Amino acid sequence: MARLRPAASLVEGLLRRSMGRRLDLAPQTRAPRRRMNPFYATLKTSVFSTMSALAAEHGAINLGQGFPDGAGPEDVRARAAEAVLHGNNQYPPSPGLPELRQAVAAHYGRFQGLELDWKTQVIVTSGATEALAAATLALISPGDEAVILEPAYDSYGPQVLRAGGVPRFIRLEPPNWTITREALEAVTTPRTRIVMFNNPLNPAARVYTTQEMAVLADWCVRHGVVAVCDEVWEHIVFDGRRPVSMMSLPGMAGSTVKIGSAGKIFSLTGWKVGFICAAPELAAVIQKAHQFLTFATAPNLQAAVAYGLDKDDAYFEQMRSGFARSRDRLTAGLKSEGFAVLPSEGTYFLNVDLAASGLNLDDETFCLRAVKEAGVAAIPVSAFYAEDPVRTVVRLCFAKNDDTLDAAVERLGKARKLA
Ligand code: PMP
Ligand code: GLN
Repeated sequence: MARLRPAASLVEGLLRRSMGRRLDLAPQTRAPRRRMNPFYATLKTSVFSTMSALAAEHGAINLGQGFPDGAGPEDVRARAAEAVLHGNNQYPPSPGLPELRQAVAAHYGRFQGLELDWKTQVIVTSGATEALAAATLALISPGDEAVILEPAYDSYGPQVLRAGGVPRFIRLEPPNWTITREALEAVTTPRTRIVMFNNPLNPAARVYTTQEMAVLADWCVRHGVVAVCDEVWEHIVFDGRRPVSMMSLPGMAGSTVKIGSAGKIFSLTGWKVGFICAAPELAAVIQKAHQFLTFATAPNLQAAVAYGLDKDDAYFEQMRSGFARSRDRLTAGLKSEGFAVLPSEGTYFLNVDLAASGLNLDDETFCLRAVKEAGVAAIPVSAFYAEDPVRTVVRLCFAKNDDTLDAAVERLGKARKLA
């Protein structure tokens, strides 16, 4: 159920407490001697960094932080290399290279039926993370409220707070992680400005139904709320699903900030090339925030992404079916070791339900044992909640080759016996 929190300071406390309790690395937890911004001085290290560091320290297989172990499409990488050697290496225009903005508009026209004017509606950012920050800074004034559906990607809460906003959390629960009209209405106030909507949902690996999206769209339209739609996983959807953008729903063209990431579309997570698509009046203000966050993004990578977005449908189909096969392999392996696996409809992730697997321990305890004693890093889903976390679910990344997945299954079987 939704919880109301009266004061931002209370929410800050909750966020600080929730972000990495036992998973925190020692150096970051020491109180700083100098007077520095207290929010950042006390903010915990991201669970992704923490688990990747533990994986490296213990020589574990890293199914924690979400990145594929493949090299990424060679033709796209070759384009980037070519652009580094022979293309533009000076500042590109702040909103992005025209060729990439045109390619983004064409891509979303092709796959999602959107009609976007590349000059006024598309901004290139340094990853979706920067896009989320720019959108939040541009849309929130101090005291404004932002609805965050939890489990939520870890940057949403801190970004809202640093913009002076007050998060209003809605708690989604396994196994269905559903949004209801009642939960939305319960957190709505006259100060509600935005909702952070991540679809497909990391870490739950859910793709929302069109009915749920319609409920959210209707709520946005009735209350004048802008949906900041984190659609970075839009192409990684399985079992015949197709990427649907919130922006294509009735009434939402002017009330959606759509965020995408080339890192996910091309399995090149280190590239940090993101896109924002929004109505011109929203995009113009978000561009002002972007100009003083990073100003611009590496032009050679932008050129390669522009090329990649134009790839034929077969590329996207094959990418999806490759990940679906890995999902099925990890699911089958885990089931054979006695784990209860929740459905994965999209993303690089699947979730194990510890309680339903007969394991009577919390997600952090399981993850710490798994990485230290069994040699597999995973992510405790409680890290995606600022309050009242679900503590019985563990996220695993299946975007790995077969040998890695098989070895991880064997080790997780051992971790299960340790528990
Ligand atoms: N949002 C979500 C839901 C994500 O899962 C990620 C990273 N996987 C991001 C944003 C950040 O994307 P980027 O690496 O392009 O900044
Ligand atoms: N999005 C990635 C994940 O969910 C992590 C990104 C990061 O490390 N900041 O695993």
